[in-house]
Amino acid sequence: MANWFISTDLDGTMLNHVTHDYVAVLPMLNRLQLLGVTVVLNSTKTAAELTNWQDRLNLNAPLIAENGGVICFDGQTRLLGRARSEICDLLQAWRVQYGWQFAGYNDWSLAELMRQTGFTSDHAELAAQRLVTEPILWQDSAENFIHFERQLAQVGLSWQKAGRFYHIMAAHNKASAVAWLLVNRFQGYKVLALGDGSADHLMLEQADLAVVLSNEQAEYLPIKHAHFFNPPLPAPQGWVQGLEWALPQMR
Ligand SMILES: [Mg+2]
Repeated sequence: MANWFISTDLDGTMLNHVTHDYVAVLPMLNRLQLLGVTVVLNSTKTAAELTNWQDRLNLNAPLIAENGGVICFDGQTRLLGRARSEICDLLQAWRVQYGWQFAGYNDWSLAELMRQTGFTSDHAELAAQRLVTEPILWQDSAENFIHFERQLAQVGLSWQKAGRFYHIMAAHNKASAVAWLLVNRFQGYKVLALGDGSADHLMLEQADLAVVLSNEQAEYLPIKHAHFFNPPLPAPQGWVQGLEWALPQMR
């Protein structure tokens, strides 16, 4: 049992899409701790936000933040992505050179960030502590976005859509960070992955066992996998159902 680790998304996977309720996962987390199975939070959220969640969930394990761009373990923070300051410098240079209209976290005060995202001040403060991704709102034409995309590609950057925001980042994802942990921290381990959204797709397909929870529209992300499960209930109960399906196979 101890040669497995769990890579799990947070929003919509451990936390309910609407209510953000998570209490139902706590007894299962206790059980996993007794079994010696490590639970790695793997989210688009920042390391600061995830550290906060680890405290609430009583987890003390590696965590993967900002879409696979940041890995924290054993008191260290490693950047697998491009430093956000470099990304912001490039964005600013292009804004001056091409006159493109866009705005992102780096341009805003805390108050403006709260207004744009609907976050509370505590949440906004943690969400603003980004290390390798810069979320922006594109306020220019679709035509110019194609030009923008080309510029990103030329310097090895890309984007991932999350709600209204485009997260500008280097080429990393949740799956590439799991692969990094398998080489550097969990050699020879097998992986159970749980997720609900498109950002989880590769992570789910590359895991040994996959649990795909229903999304906000009560639909299941289709994946190609020989051993996957769709829990009937949404998060947080669906996360527990996923573990109940997976545990007998984790030996
Ligand atoms: Mg999710």
